[in-house]
Amino acid sequence: MLEITEIFGPTIQGEGKKLGSPSIFIRFGKCNLSCKGFEVEYTTPSGEKKYSCDSYYAADSQFKEYWTKYENFEEIINEVKKFEPKNYKPDIVITGGEPLLYWRDDEFQKLLEYYINNFYNVTIETNATINIDINKEYQKKILFSMSVKLSNSAESLKKRVNPKALTNIIQNIDDKYLKFVLSKECIDTSKDEIESILKQIPHVNVYLMPMGDTIETLNLNSEAVIDFAVENGYLYSDRLHIRIWNDKRGV
Ligand code: SF4
Repeated sequence: MLEITEIFGPTIQGEGKKLGSPSIFIRFGKCNLSCKGFEVEYTTPSGEKKYSCDSYYAADSQFKEYWTKYENFEEIINEVKKFEPKNYKPDIVITGGEPLLYWRDDEFQKLLEYYINNFYNVTIETNATINIDINKEYQKKILFSMSVKLSNSAESLKKRVNPKALTNIIQNIDDKYLKFVLSKECIDTSKDEIESILKQIPHVNVYLMPMGDTIETLNLNSEAVIDFAVENGYLYSDRLHIRIWNDKRGV
């Protein structure tokens, strides 16, 4: 069974390599991390105050009752069709939560296969901690956007960095990149952390993004992250959706 928190679009992809591309987002529920360090405060349906990332409603299973359950992939395709423009194929962005938690599910694979075989560009946004089997041609054509977490996520190194899983994706997927989210305060410690991760895996492009779920917090961090990217030869990615829509959901 596939659990989805929201399907929305067409809108633009707000970050990473495909920034600006018209896209429909399919956001899966469940995550194997909680990233309390990202300090987005929220209240669970049972009234508990917690901290996580800005996708807490997808990452935290306490919101499960609000997720839509799909028994087969065709139901999802039909739902996505309601959002699709008639005159072109938007990118399909599979995000979460952690969508690779569903990788072994046949319906998840059929969904990916359908979109790739029908000439859609598909991106999977993942924390890249799960070691997946990549043995089908359609799987190799998915763009993997791997948002590897640093110590600012407050997750343990063992949980947030899996060099085996990263190497597997980098070696077997045609198009992929890493993405790190940084705040001004953590730049000094992040330099060594990023270098240490990169030493353990094959070469891959690296994007740096400013931390923040509002225009105000992005503005506090973006200039320092740009300076750091330029000094070290990394790519910078802004978070365009936040610049334009601030913390509004589903746009
Ligand atoms: S891995 Fe991603 S979705 Fe999961 S808690 Fe961390 S930032 Fe949120």
